[in-house]
Amino acid sequence: MSARLRIGIIGAGMAGLYAAYRLKESGYEVVVFEKNSDVGGTWLQNDYPGLHVDVITRSYEFAEMRSSTWSKRYAPGVEIGAYLKSFARRKGLYPLIRFGSEVAEASWHDGVWQIVTTDGETHVFDVAMVATGFLRVPKMPRIEGMDDFRGTAFHSSRWDHSLSFTGKRVGVIGTGSSGIQIVSELGKRGHDVVHFIRTPQWIQIKENPSISWLEKLLLRIPALAKYWDTRMARLRVKTDGPETWRLEPGPDRDAANQRFLDVLEQEIPDPALRRKLTPAEPLGCKRIPKSPDYYRVLQRPNVQPVFGPLGHIEHDGVVDGTGVKHTLDVIVFATGFDTHAYMRPMRITGANGVTLDELWQGAVFSYRGVGLPQMPNLFLLNGPFAPINSLAIPLCLRDEVGYLLRLLAVIERDRTPIAPTRAATDRFVDTIREKLPQTTYSLCDNWYTDASGTQVIWPFTRAEHGRQYDELNLDDFETFGLPVEALS
Ligand SMILES: Cc1cc2nc3c(=O)[nH]c(=O)nc-3n(C[C@H](O)[C@H](O)[C@H](O)COP(=O)(O)OP(=O)(O)OC[C@H]3O[C@@H](n4cnc5c(N)ncnc54)[C@H](O)[C@@H]3O)c2cc1C
Repeated sequence: MSARLRIGIIGAGMAGLYAAYRLKESGYEVVVFEKNSDVGGTWLQNDYPGLHVDVITRSYEFAEMRSSTWSKRYAPGVEIGAYLKSFARRKGLYPLIRFGSEVAEASWHDGVWQIVTTDGETHVFDVAMVATGFLRVPKMPRIEGMDDFRGTAFHSSRWDHSLSFTGKRVGVIGTGSSGIQIVSELGKRGHDVVHFIRTPQWIQIKENPSISWLEKLLLRIPALAKYWDTRMARLRVKTDGPETWRLEPGPDRDAANQRFLDVLEQEIPDPALRRKLTPAEPLGCKRIPKSPDYYRVLQRPNVQPVFGPLGHIEHDGVVDGTGVKHTLDVIVFATGFDTHAYMRPMRITGANGVTLDELWQGAVFSYRGVGLPQMPNLFLLNGPFAPINSLAIPLCLRDEVGYLLRLLAVIERDRTPIAPTRAATDRFVDTIREKLPQTTYSLCDNWYTDASGTQVIWPFTRAEHGRQYDELNLDDFETFGLPVEALS
């Protein structure tokens, strides 16, 4: 080990940038590998029309760089991307990042991590930090005939900006956040849109007002900004209910159900359409898309909802499950991501030659969202069981990185690589599994569900996420001694 730990971070999205900043501030030697040509991850790769953040934007920024310039309460994605670039610039992170550098392989060898990039370079670190995201690898469905389509077809995260939509008929497949946002935006712009809705979702209708110049001015004054943030937090509890409704059955959950049913009633006067748009699945079991106007847009004459499973695709359109053909020029697959890919296809090999694929055979897991047994000095950010549905990502990262900094201090002090034990990891996963059945997440098949049927999600409160890191719990870790040669 070098005097100060050398740390290799993989990924320069929100997680990698935040970790790089905190580690650099603590004096560690940091190198970030990023396969893209700039920072931002999600917010660089996704730029479809209508993309906006679904939490109040002031809670989607780092405490270390507050912003008073957001244009809307839920800012457009392009502003988040610009904010992350500005964070990297202002915190001096760009010189630490190797762009266009995709990590193919990381292996633990003689007490260090060897990180190998696709261009064949090898770099050596005492610690590896994996910040490769969880909504990154596009998931494309297999639909009969899809290769025969002669129009333009692409995944929502690979938007074709060379395309003009004027005079074109666009089919959007998928009812997650991306699908809802794309249909709303294209529909509002007056394009001819068909929304294929296999499973109607609960959708939270939330106004998205512009932030006035006066508010922007107030947000520059810390005391007034604090007042604004508190007001927004109160408003959120009023509109969303307390966080516990997702975590356990009870009156709060019943109230949430009623709120959503009321919204459907208000927004969709036609009872037949309302019936079709009323989900059969329990509220909150899937991540709830938020939109100010999706239901209103869906009732415009230029937007056509088509319900039920798809039949097949032909060279000029989609045939629905009832045999009706919808002629299309463009198909957008808003079909989500392989949410359990995490850092894969990168290959990771830990102590005694154990590989990540062997560890995760059947199901992904982690120790407290950040560690893996037999992977000494390897840490994850936004890993399995992180609170990616309930806690704003910057707060989650603050909890995780704060804990990891304390662990790194121990590693550096004792000059000994560590990893959580299998037993401690199993105990952590068991606690999660025990709680999950009470939560709404367990009530349907969703993108948190892994191959073993477990929802890979934090099922406790936001406060409990921070509290789990109060203690370092070093008893949960085992050390990995260096080979004698390395000590000499
Ligand atoms: C369309 C969309 C909308 C979203 N909206 C919201 C929202 O409104 N609210 C919310 O809380 N969350 C939202 N999310 C989730 C979002 O992904 C997280 O909030 C957050 O941005 C994740 O940051 P990250 O750094 O963990 O991952 P990412 O942003 O995915 O960054 C991972 C980075 O790692 C790099 N990388 C991966 N593998 C390698 C490799 N082998 N070598 C080198 N580099 C590599 C990638 O290129 C990427 O830059 C959304 C996600 C998507 C896809």
